[in-house]
Amino acid sequence: MPVGVALAHVALRPSFDCGKCGEPWPCAPAKVELAEQFQADLLGLSTYLGAQMVDAMEQATGNCAWGRVDNLFDRFLGWIPRDRRDRRAA
Ligand SMILES: [Zn+2]
Repeated sequence: MPVGVALAHVALRPSFDCGKCGEPWPCAPAKVELAEQFQADLLGLSTYLGAQMVDAMEQATGNCAWGRVDNLFDRFLGWIPRDRRDRRAA
């Protein structure tokens, strides 16, 4: 996790379920925490979640019981607003 990012809802390995609420990570509370911590830095948020997605893909190798690898993009990055105009839509 990069310096300055501290989440109460973090992903467990290798399941990538939330260690606090048990939902697939990023869970709804984690999305709120991430949006608050990255605020207007959508590039930083995308970069952080892209790194998490790559980690999840590596964890999924040989362990696809928890989800299809090709669904990870939507799970990790699909919820991020594309620009500031639609931030409230997330
Ligand atoms: Zn959670």
